[in-house]
Amino acid sequence: MISFDLSDEQRLLEQSVREWAAREVAPTIHDLDREHRFDKNVFPQMAALGLLGISVPQEYGGAGMDYISLGIASEELEYVDTSLRVILSVHAGLNCLSLLTWGSEDQKQRYLVPQAQGKKIATYGLTEPGAGSDVRGIQTVAVKKGDRYVLTGEKMWISLADVADNFLVFAWTDLEKKKQRDTAGISAFIVERTFKGFTSATLKEKWGILAGNTGSFKMDEVEVPEDNLVGKPGEGFKIAMFALDQGRYTVAAGATGLIRACRDASVKYAKERKTFGVEIAQHQLVKEMIAQMESDYQSARLLWLRAGWLKNNGRRNTRETGLAKWFATVASERAASDAVQIHGANGYSDEYPVGRFYRNCKGAVIYEGTREIHKLMQADYVLGYRVDRPTRCELPPYRS
Ligand SMILES: Cc1cc2nc3c(=O)[nH]c(=O)nc-3n(C[C@H](O)[C@H](O)[C@H](O)COP(=O)(O)OP(=O)(O)OC[C@H]3O[C@@H](n4cnc5c(N)ncnc54)[C@H](O)[C@@H]3O)c2cc1C
Repeated sequence: MISFDLSDEQRLLEQSVREWAAREVAPTIHDLDREHRFDKNVFPQMAALGLLGISVPQEYGGAGMDYISLGIASEELEYVDTSLRVILSVHAGLNCLSLLTWGSEDQKQRYLVPQAQGKKIATYGLTEPGAGSDVRGIQTVAVKKGDRYVLTGEKMWISLADVADNFLVFAWTDLEKKKQRDTAGISAFIVERTFKGFTSATLKEKWGILAGNTGSFKMDEVEVPEDNLVGKPGEGFKIAMFALDQGRYTVAAGATGLIRACRDASVKYAKERKTFGVEIAQHQLVKEMIAQMESDYQSARLLWLRAGWLKNNGRRNTRETGLAKWFATVASERAASDAVQIHGANGYSDEYPVGRFYRNCKGAVIYEGTREIHKLMQADYVLGYRVDRPTRCELPPYRS
């Protein structure tokens, strides 16, 4: 049965996240963005709202909400600023849901529980200076020595790199397979910031999501206990891709929130600003841009809701999640560009939020699968070159 109504619990979440973000974040976000300042105080506040473990079952310290709730929170957070949604994407999506699905019971107790409670912050380290879309190009290696793995390598463009406590890291454990670029040689590890040989830095040159933290980290012969290997040796690539199904979902819902923010700011401005004796909202070409935002918003929302429904039912959703992410991010770029256009020269200044929306939207067209990679994937599904089969680990269905 399909329902387009949110449950009472989902509506309450939507309302509480919306009110919190409007009250606590919106008043300061302009200054944080301008000063390139990440505000760590959001972590305890997000934890108090249950957001940091939103779709993690209560038995593992989470709020035990369904996956549609994760989408709702993503949409509401990005309505105010992309940097907030990014926290949810990497911590609650890419990291926590991967540990929930692929982690051992011991790993869940040691890492997932404190992360879901918001006592520890976590992120995801796949990208390197020389490898983004082409995951096979990563150079980080993990060499087994007794009961430990020794990790050496550098990760780049990592959200929360300079503030997170725990990192889900991908490295080659089979050097023969590395030479052959066979992804069955990649494994996944939990690395703690406190491990000897781990250093991180904030990327200073970024021009979007300026109220967020993005950076790099280096591992110089970091010794990681073998108990921190997630899944089996060689399952890292599958885990990395599984994680992206969760991260992309939050990006899709987040970008949907950004389209709505562009629409709302445009409607407000178009009714205030007058040219040729009438509000600019009266001009058909302005209406056209607003109509496109509305169409994009409604379409993007339906796409992420469908992906969330599949997740709730424990069904494979790589194709649907990818489509939702691709559509919403490209549409958010269109919406942000038109929002600036509607604001005229004022849109080109820092005084109005649409300039920030315009800078922030671009990142999501690049991370978690670029626009081009998603196009290729969707074409391959339609052409029958790519078929998703159930894997050993699907996201656990939601139990209400
Ligand atoms: C703000 C931000 C936050 C990020 N956070 C994280 C994070 O937390 N963790 C993490 O691991 N990574 C993160 N990333 C990295 C991100 O996932 C990568 O940037 C992304 O995967 C693209 O890789 P790349 O930048 O190396 O581009 P490349 O892979 O070098 O691609 C460059 C261009 O070539 C195109 N291209 C590449 N291959 C093909 C092909 N086969 N066909 C057609 N076109 C192609 C791409 O679409 C792109 O336009 C983040 C990036 C940004 C910008």
